[in-house]
Amino acid sequence: MTAQSHPRVRFAPSPTGFLHVGGLRTALYNYLFAKKEGGTFILRIEDTDRSRYVEGALENLIEALKWSGLDYDEGPGKGGACGPYTQSERLAIYRDHVTQLCSVKKAYHCFCTPERLDEMRKQQEKMKIAPKYDRHCLRMAPEEVSRRLAEGAPSVVRMRIPETSTIVIDDLIRGRVEFQSDRVDDQVLLKSDGYPTYHLANVVDDRLMGITHVIRGEEWLYSTPKHVVLYGYLGWDVTAFAHLPLLLNADRSKLSKRQGDVAVEDYRAAGYLPGALLNFVALLGWNPGDDREIFGLDELVQEFSLGRVGKSGAIFNVEKLQWINQQHLRRLGPDAIADKLKPVLKKAG
Ligand code: GLU
Repeated sequence: MTAQSHPRVRFAPSPTGFLHVGGLRTALYNYLFAKKEGGTFILRIEDTDRSRYVEGALENLIEALKWSGLDYDEGPGKGGACGPYTQSERLAIYRDHVTQLCSVKKAYHCFCTPERLDEMRKQQEKMKIAPKYDRHCLRMAPEEVSRRLAEGAPSVVRMRIPETSTIVIDDLIRGRVEFQSDRVDDQVLLKSDGYPTYHLANVVDDRLMGITHVIRGEEWLYSTPKHVVLYGYLGWDVTAFAHLPLLLNADRSKLSKRQGDVAVEDYRAAGYLPGALLNFVALLGWNPGDDREIFGLDELVQEFSLGRVGKSGAIFNVEKLQWINQQHLRRLGPDAIADKLKPVLKKAG
């Protein structure tokens, strides 16, 4: 059977505190896409940004996913043939790929200090040119690079973006998207602490975990040209991409905490049914093609297709969630409702 007939998809959150409702939608669409096609849904933890490490965040995230009913097939605590599924446990793999990229001159060491980079950015701002690394270290003589490395000078590794080419993404939702490479920065791949950046770890793992479709939020679209170039440099075919529309507040600003709850655990604590929350987030960007609005998870699996996911931002409307929750409550029998009420009444004395 080909990879296409059995998709492998992943939800790849960074554990930074809680599961965002936008993250729940990404997880749900990946889950639905996999289950509909008899594929595999993977949970991968992207925890390589040590400055954003939050104690207990991973446990919260897994707990919120479990509550929602989106059970993953491979991932932390479950195992699978492509583990480990937590990036901080895969550092040697990323380093090997960076070494390979450096040896074919698709990546280079950069010794620039934060002060120099700051100064460079200020100059670029003054000259009204787009902020981009000026390739100071790309011009360094190889002997000088070796000397500095031997001395243990702190460095990062950057990828060398081609000077002038058009990078094309055939997005399953947005269609053909083009980027001019001269506008793309020489992205840092390996940080001075030896950890990979999101870009490197994400591409390497998508490949090594056999991911056939990358389904993620639109905010990652501008990273995708870097990823496409990396696939090429590593000699790999590019996976399929589908970038999901943004979630918006009622005033069409990007969904934020300031205008209401965004954590799945807040909705759980407020007493919403997990199935209702899933039904609600399913409709943030996708529609069934007719006027039906109430779906259980199994029904969503039957109905879902990426072809019915739109491009424009989806408005997060809590009143709609309340109405959907009501409809889900009506679908429950009296016994199930009694079971749900008992702990609430008990707590209230
Ligand atoms: N770690 C990224 C996040 O926090 C994953 C983005 C992607 O799916 O590529 O959302």
